[in-house]
Amino acid sequence: MTAPRPLAVLAVAGLLLTGCTSFADTLTAPTTPSAPPSAAPDDDDACAERAEPDPDRPVVALDFRLADDLRTVTGTETVVFTPDRAVAELVFRLVPNGPEPAAAGSRLVVDEVRGEDVAGSEYESFGAPGADGGYVVTLDEPLAAGESTEVELDFTLALGSGGFDRVGAADGVSWWASGFPLLAWEPVVGWARDPYVAVSGETTTSPAADTTVRVSAPADLAVLMTGNQAAPTPSDGEGRRTWTSAEPVARDVSVAVGRFDTAERTTPDGVRVTTGALPGAEPTADELADATVEAITDLAEFLGPFPYETLTVPLLPDYGGGIEYPSSILQATPSNEVLVHEVAHMWFYGMVGNSQFRDPWLDEAFATWAEAVVHPSSADDLERALGVVGDVGDAMDDFRTQQQYSARVYGKGGAALLEAREQAGPGAFDAAVRCYVQATAWRIAAPEDVAEALADLPEALDVLTGAGALPAG
Ligand SMILES: [Zn+2]
Repeated sequence: MTAPRPLAVLAVAGLLLTGCTSFADTLTAPTTPSAPPSAAPDDDDACAERAEPDPDRPVVALDFRLADDLRTVTGTETVVFTPDRAVAELVFRLVPNGPEPAAAGSRLVVDEVRGEDVAGSEYESFGAPGADGGYVVTLDEPLAAGESTEVELDFTLALGSGGFDRVGAADGVSWWASGFPLLAWEPVVGWARDPYVAVSGETTTSPAADTTVRVSAPADLAVLMTGNQAAPTPSDGEGRRTWTSAEPVARDVSVAVGRFDTAERTTPDGVRVTTGALPGAEPTADELADATVEAITDLAEFLGPFPYETLTVPLLPDYGGGIEYPSSILQATPSNEVLVHEVAHMWFYGMVGNSQFRDPWLDEAFATWAEAVVHPSSADDLERALGVVGDVGDAMDDFRTQQQYSARVYGKGGAALLEAREQAGPGAFDAAVRCYVQATAWRIAAPEDVAEALADLPEALDVLTGAGALPAG
C-alpha cells in the first residue's frame, strides 16, 4: 500500500532531523543515485527455480452479489482447510470492521456458518471498534495436521463512503478488497489474531489459497478483480451479468465494479493486463495499461518473472494512493511511482507473503526499494531516510504515529535496502534478492529468510542490521 505521498512525509522528516542537533549525527551522507537494474536472471542463475505453492493450501470459493444500490454485497464463502498442525477452530479476520473502514461506514456481518465439523461460532474483537474484528468457528473435535474440513459462511458487507481504503463506494464505482471473512492462517505458526492498530496500514496474515471468485453485478458495470477473468455472461432477465475468475495462489481478493472503460495489453512475457478508468478520468485506461506493462517489464528485469498470469488495475477516484492485492491493484492516484510501488508488491506481499502486522517492512520496504531502483526520483526522496531514528523491523503496534510508521518502514527500510545494494554491489544484491523471492514464493517469509539469502554479502547484512531491519548477530 502507498498512503497519500509517504515520501513527502519523509522529506519533512528529513528536514526536521536536519534541524535537530541531537539527531544530526545519525544522518548519513546522501546515497549515490541507484544503479540501474542488473541483468535479467539467466539459465545459470543459482535460483532459477521458483518454489511451488503448498499442495495442501486452502481452497477458497467466493460468491459475491453486488445489490442494485451498489452499496451492499451479499456473499457465500466456501473454504476447504487442511492445516499443517492440529487445530480446534478456524479463525477469520473481518478486515472491513477495522478502525478505518468502520469509521467510513463499512461493516461485514457473518449471517450463517455451515459445515459437518462445525460446533459453534462467535465474533472476537482483535481490538476492532465494534469488537467484531475477527470471527472464530469452533470445530466439534480437533482437526489433525493433514486432515481437511470444509466450512461455508454467508455474509453481508455494507460498503462505506469512498476514501483511501480497501472497501468503499463512490459515484459509479464500488470496491471491496478483503471484503469477506479472511482465513487468518500462518502455516507453521498458527492463527493470526493480531490487533488492529490506529496507524493506517495492513495488519493481516493469510496463506496463498487456490481461489475462485464469482461476482453478480448490474449489467452496465464492469468488474476488475483478482484472478484470471473469464468473459462475463450475457445480461440475464434481471439485468445482471456474472463475472468469474480463478487464481490458484491468491492470499486475498480484491473486487472493483464500476462504469469502467477498460483496456487490455499483454506483456512480452505473456502477462495479461486489464485496466479500467471511469469516464473522463486521467490517466485513461489505455494510458494506465501502457504504464502497467512498463512497470511489470522494468521490475521483472531485476526481480525475476512476474508472479501471476494476469494483473487488473481499476483506477478509483483520486484518493491519493494505491492498495495492492494478489494480481489486482486498487489504484487511487494518477502517480506512476505509486503504480510501480504497487506492482512491486506482486512480488513482495503477493508472492512472498509476510505477516503484515509482525514484519511490515518485508513488503513495504522492499516495494519502496524496488520503486526506487526503477525511479531515480524516488531514490532521491530516500536520501536522508537512513538517519531516521528507530528500527525498520518493528511490528505495527510499535509505531505511535503515521509519520513514524511511514518514515521508518517505507523510508528508512527502503533506504537501507538501497544502501545495502550499493555496499554489496547491485548485481550481487539483486541476485540474492531473486534467490530470496524464489525460495520463499507462496509462503509467509520471515526476516531470517532475508538474512539467509544475503548470507554471502556481509556488507549488505551490516547495513540491514544497523538499520534494525534484521536482528543483530
Ligand atoms: Zn506499499
